[in-house]
Order: sequence, then C-alpha cells, then structure tokens
Amino acid sequence: MSKLIVKKFGGTSVANVERIEAVADNIERTIKAGSKVAVVLSAMGKSTDDLIALSKQINPEPDLREYDALVSTGEQVSVALLAMALLKRGIKGKSYTAYQLGIRTNSSHSRARILDVDVDKITKEIEEGAVPVITGFQGMNEFGDITTLGRGGSDTTGVALAVALDADECQIFTDVDGVFTTDPRIYDKAKLLKNVSFEEMLELSSMGAKVLQLRAVEYASKFNMPIRVVSSFNEGEGTLVQEEKNIMERPIVSGISSVDTEAKLTIRGVPDIPGVAAKILGPISDAGIDVDVIVQNIGADKTTDFTFTVDKSDFSKAEKILKETSNSLGGGQVEVDDQIAKISIVGRGMRAHAGIASKMFQALAENEINILMITTSEIKISVVISKDEMKDAVRALHDAFDLDRELDT
Ligand code: ADP
Ligand code: ASP
Ligand code: MG
Repeated sequence: MSKLIVKKFGGTSVANVERIEAVADNIERTIKAGSKVAVVLSAMGKSTDDLIALSKQINPEPDLREYDALVSTGEQVSVALLAMALLKRGIKGKSYTAYQLGIRTNSSHSRARILDVDVDKITKEIEEGAVPVITGFQGMNEFGDITTLGRGGSDTTGVALAVALDADECQIFTDVDGVFTTDPRIYDKAKLLKNVSFEEMLELSSMGAKVLQLRAVEYASKFNMPIRVVSSFNEGEGTLVQEEKNIMERPIVSGISSVDTEAKLTIRGVPDIPGVAAKILGPISDAGIDVDVIVQNIGADKTTDFTFTVDKSDFSKAEKILKETSNSLGGGQVEVDDQIAKISIVGRGMRAHAGIASKMFQALAENEINILMITTSEIKISVVISKDEMKDAVRALHDAFDLDRELDT
C-alpha cells in the first residue's frame, strides 16, 4: 500500500508564485515516487502580519470574532493558488478551508484549540488520487464562526491532519534546514539537530523556538505522531522530532531558545502574608492573561516585592489590573519594563547533571550580562535579561556549552 504523507509549508515557502510552483513540483515528485499526499499551507509571506496591522488600524484591540474572520483569509489565497498549480500539472489538487473540511475548535478566538478534524470527505478523494490542499491556522467553532489557532498555528493544523488521517509521515517545510541548537538567524554557529525528543521540543518551542508552534508539538506528542522538519529550499534530512526512547545519548544541553516578546511587571511593598500571590495573580488570570516567569522576594519590614512576566500583547491590560490590585492591597508602586528578553537552555541530559545553572550564570557574568529573573524546570533553566543583551547572551551560552561541536545524533 502506498504511503500517505502530510506536508505543511510555511509562509516563506509559499511567499510568491514561483515558490508556490516549487511546492507543486515537490508534491508532483512525491506522487511520482508512489506516495499519496495531503497538504496544509500558511498564508503567503508576511500577509498575516499585514492583515493584523490592518485590523489594528480600525481598533488596537479589535473584536476577536472579526479579527479571526479577517486574519484567516491569508490561507484561503495560498491554498487556491497551489490547487491551481497542481491542476496545471495534471494533479487533482483541491483546496479546502477549515470550514469546508470541518476542523472543529473551541471558541477561544485568536488562540483556539483544535477539537477534531473531519477527514471523511478527503479520505475518499485521497484514495482516488486527489491532493487536498487545506488552509492552516484556521478552524470553526460550535456556532460555525471562524477561529484561528494563534501565530504559527498552521503547524498544528498539519499535525492534527496527520493524526486524523493516520498518516505515515508529517513533514513541516520551512525556511531553515530543520531544528538547530539555537535560532540560526541569531547565531551562525548554530548546528542542525538530526533528532529531538518531544519533551525537548516542547521546552524549546514554549521558550520561543518558533520553528514549531508549541501546540503542534503538544498534539504530536499526545498522539505520538513524529514530525520531520525540513527545508523547502535545500535538500536534506532535516530534523526528526519524536518520542524519546528512539533517540541516542545526547549532550547535557541540546538547545537554546530566546524570546523578546514578554514584558515584566513589578508590584512593590505588598503585605508579606499568606494569600498575597493569589490576590495579585487572581485578577490577572481572570482576565485571561497567561503569566510566565514569577518571582516573589523574601519579605523585609513585613512587605515584599512581586514580579512576573506576561506576553507584550497583554501588557497594558495587565498593568491596569495590577494598579487596581495595588490600590486595594495598600501596596506600593507598580513598575513595568517591556525591554526584556528570556533566554533558556534546554536538555534532557540536565536531569542527571549538577552545576549546569552555575555554568550558565558564570558565562553570563563573564559577558557582563545582568540576570533579572531566574526560573527552572527539570530539563530547562531560563533567565530574564535586558533585551539589548539577548543576542550576546545566546552566543555566549552556545559557546559555553560547546553546542557548535559536531553531533552524531
Ligand atoms: P514558517 O513560516 O515556515 O512556519 P517560522 O518563521 O514560523 O517559519 O519558523 C522558522 C523560523 O524559526 C526560522 O526562520 C528561525 O529563524 C526560527 N527559529 C527559532 N529557533 C529556531 C531553532 N532552534 N531552529 C530552527 N529555527 C529556529
Ligand atoms: N499564517 C499564520 C501566521 O503567520 C499561521 C502560520 O503561518 O503558521 O501566524
Ligand atoms: Mg511557523
């Protein structure tokens, strides 16, 4: 029986008509080699950014139902163009929006979660030799409204479709050769990783490695669907993201992620009594704002300082809420800083090794990089630093942990 491959192509891979023709060639080669194919596409180039910018011109905080109706349109353009390019080659390409197909999500507009994908319609078509070309990033909720899955969400559509179709492979085509030890655009010494475990990729993605959307990795891990990340520009094996047990021994630290999309808020002089953290963060979470790094200082004079980070898109809302909390708690000043970056080192090997944190802090100290906050998990250490030191910190840590050495994994 022939193999079924789900191929997802990102924005740069479909940025113009020439790139779309190249994607059609890729699909034609796969079909000629005897496989069946289903395709998921992102919007062309930066068109999602342009649509978001348009919506913000009307209202900086637009109605989210209408925001989703707007920003989902980018994908509708690319899928129709690719279907045309396939038809030109004599391949039965057929475009589908998430609505036409039945990609059901919850109702969290702008960051919806996929609940299930109805593949009945396309399964038969694939058997008959057609190639469905499906819009990434979008879904529909129980009311039939269009939803979107958050930035980078086409990766999740790709994985969800591969799971629903019980595909043999899920390939994510992007503009770099695979998953690297760190963002190759930040450090040219970054090395391509041939294998990454789901667990490591979850940490790398959640800490900012946007090469795979976090939800896509969560979905793949939950259903044990391996993902191959490959370049749509260069030939190569790329990176296989899969269950840990299949992966050989590994260095202590396998990757470094960085993000500069968070902001830091501090509330000073709050009473150092039980329940105060809940009083501060309760209203923040009630407003649907996710909090990331949290630090509460040791109290002095029966008061304490409390600091946390949120995504920049939630920054002004969080600041307003925190000022109200400060008034009601009789707390002091609220201080904010949106010029921060978070750098994380990730590795399964960290579990069994002490001293990794001190090595990380030493490397930062030698480069005169001041640490503002620290947080750890079993296989990750993150620090918050000043945004203008982000690239230097990534390079310093990449060197300190020798990540540019040749790996045989
Ligand atoms: P696509 O449009 O194909 O979905 P994205 O821009 O979402 O592509 O993701 C690919 C980008 O992810 C790369 O261009 C690279 O700059 C960035 N990136 C960040 N961290 C990593 C990493 N560890 N390995 C590879 N790429 C990374
Ligand atoms: N087009 C969407 C975005 O730019 C989804 C994606 O590319 O994965 O975020
Ligand atoms: Mg992406």
